[in-house]
Amino acid sequence: MKKGKIILVGAGPGGKGLLTLRGLEALEGADTVVYDRLVSEEILSLIPSAAERIDVGKTSGSHPVPQSRINEILVEKAREGRTVVRLKGGDPFVFGRGGEELDLPAQEGIPFEVVPGVTSAVAALSYAGIPVTNRGMASSFHVVTGHQKGDSPLSIPFEALAGTGGTLVFLMGVGSLGELTRGLMAAGMDPETPAAAVENGARPSQRKVVSTLAQLKEDADKIALHSPAVIAVGKVCTLSNRYDWWEKRPLHGRTILVGRSASASPKVLDQLTALGAEVVDLPLIRTEPFSGPIPSEALEGGWLTFSSKVGVQSFFTRLMDMGLDARALGKVKIAAVGEATALRLREYGVIADLVPQQFDGVHLAGALLDRTEPFDLVTLCGAAVGSEELEATLTAAGRTVRRIPLYRTVPLPLREPELVEKSLRAGACVAFTSGSMVRSFAASLPGADFGGVTAFCIGAKTAAAAEEAGFIPVVADQGTFDGLVEKILGFFGES
Ligand code: SAH
Repeated sequence: MKKGKIILVGAGPGGKGLLTLRGLEALEGADTVVYDRLVSEEILSLIPSAAERIDVGKTSGSHPVPQSRINEILVEKAREGRTVVRLKGGDPFVFGRGGEELDLPAQEGIPFEVVPGVTSAVAALSYAGIPVTNRGMASSFHVVTGHQKGDSPLSIPFEALAGTGGTLVFLMGVGSLGELTRGLMAAGMDPETPAAAVENGARPSQRKVVSTLAQLKEDADKIALHSPAVIAVGKVCTLSNRYDWWEKRPLHGRTILVGRSASASPKVLDQLTALGAEVVDLPLIRTEPFSGPIPSEALEGGWLTFSSKVGVQSFFTRLMDMGLDARALGKVKIAAVGEATALRLREYGVIADLVPQQFDGVHLAGALLDRTEPFDLVTLCGAAVGSEELEATLTAAGRTVRRIPLYRTVPLPLREPELVEKSLRAGACVAFTSGSMVRSFAASLPGADFGGVTAFCIGAKTAAAAEEAGFIPVVADQGTFDGLVEKILGFFGES
């Protein structure tokens, strides 16, 4: 049997970018991952699908699993020969009870490893533009827990801390914020000392308050600041506005639910994330390719039009199944609805003869009419349903239109409809790249009112579907994902 092992991994304060490479490697090799509340969804999505996941941050009654039980779980799983990754927010040894979790394995001779993480004590402040030390302002920093057990008073050496002249950093201090600031002032600290609190540091939802020691509690209450937050006291807090970069990104504070086909890479979402948006990835449709030979008359002459990347892929798979390749297309002309489809054709060795100026069916139809004569054959290669306008326009102008259905689109139900509804109520927007996505989304939320919700749409047909579902559609000028991103940026820039 494989020998089990426990790897204590620091997940960092937020997204996957602040997970170490060794941490990622450990996750990818995990058989079991045990994680808690502070680990972000983005990091959890890196857990291999075959790995067992154990959430010890909450159980059905929403009480966390007791520490002693967590310790046992780690050892039990390792004894079964599993590689157990214990994922913790920030650094596992900074108020993470990482040490306690190693006692049992150390005692029992179970191999373990510790992968340090980026601690929120430093990173949450960096993301708020606060350097923990700065020449002439602070030459030390001191990380202290503000957590208190039950009703007992805080056992913090306020005098000693007030005397350091360094930056004071408090974790787990939201609940005791008033007591902390009063304690420091009672110990002789100037009430005007700059102070700050950073909630959800290094996350798209980050919020911060920059204030003074005397005012911090009141200012934090004003915005209902909540845990997790890092509290900092010291001159360096004055640098926050000058060095802030995270909250200044153009889409910071915006939540966008982005629909996607399950067969498309979620990579496109990274663009919006990089601009500061909190992006929720929603696989809304799935494509099911058809098989079978490509009818030979379609290869004899006329035009073949492709309306999507997935169509191109399915077409060439079928062609190759017939023992043919790009050379079989020597007698036909090829049109692609847009850039992305044309690029995919290139990968199969085919350069499109026609790509319309605007990437939609209407413009494709216009461009095709310019290049063909009545009775010419145009074969539409695409989804089983759709392109009706294209077909109708060509037929009305006397072209002979055939179809090769390459795939069908199947709606995918939302994985967490309650969460989606919750974020819509909190002001999130949506983005769709096809009408079928809009319909799938709406079908997952029967009875939902999308009245005030802005839907960014890649083109006119998508927008029509969004309007029908009750959204307020905003249509991209150029029918590409880049065009959609540009529209979103412009929309929020202007508002
Ligand atoms: N091991 C963690 C700390 C665990 S204690 C680390 O190294 O970061 C939990 C406390 O950490 C929270 O109460 C809060 O003070 C802080 N914290 C963790 N993640 C945070 C985040 N993203 N933003 C702000 N504070 C965070």
